[in-house]
Amino acid sequence: MEETENRFWQISAEIAALEKEHGRPSGSVRLVAVGKTFDAAAIRPVLHAGHRIFGENRVQEAEQKWPDLKTDFPDAELHLIGPLQSNKAALAVQLFDVIETIDREKIAAAIASEIRKQARKPKLFVQVNTGNEPQKAGIDPRDTADFVQRCREVHGLEVEGLMCIPPLNENPGPHFALLQKQARQLGIAELSMGMSDDYPIAIAFGATFVRIGSAIFGSRG
Ligand SMILES: *Cc1c(COP(=O)(O)O)cnc(C)c1O
Repeated sequence: MEETENRFWQISAEIAALEKEHGRPSGSVRLVAVGKTFDAAAIRPVLHAGHRIFGENRVQEAEQKWPDLKTDFPDAELHLIGPLQSNKAALAVQLFDVIETIDREKIAAAIASEIRKQARKPKLFVQVNTGNEPQKAGIDPRDTADFVQRCREVHGLEVEGLMCIPPLNENPGPHFALLQKQARQLGIAELSMGMSDDYPIAIAFGATFVRIGSAIFGSRG
């Protein structure tokens, strides 16, 4: 547990150094600590260290861990970073403060309907499949502008960010550059990109959220 806290402080310091190196304002890159597969006891030391932004990639796993953690730390901000099924939209809107993985019209419609029903308003990001990988979630990058426009105009959703996961074993730089360019063109402020292995590159390309799991919590085995 102490090791987790040490790694958290180290990553935080590295992010601060990278902000400086790239002329980014201090605090402009926020860390999403990804606790997937780790239990609540493993996550608590990072909360006790004062960190508040966390990510989970499965709705059901978050449902098991986070209601208790949120009781103790009501200002925690929980991000959904994994694929979302429309039958989990109600639970996702209830549990998460930021949903980063909107990537289909059906999901956009389900989320919009739940936002109207529940007195909650999570921030929404659109996931872009920058590598056009068939097995990966996210919209085709050629459709980003159309999809964002439909989210806004048909479903009345505010799209505040874009998110991507570049293909494994590929230079991530061009993928981060593409996401940055699309966000600029669409007037979207937040860029969620960069994980344990590539977050320094993502920060160079303007990431405002980096999603880091194993570099803080250790390998998922
Ligand atoms: C697991 C996961 C991460 C964190 O990955 P690490 O390599 O452990 O830092 C980031 N983003 C998404 C979408 C994930 O599923």
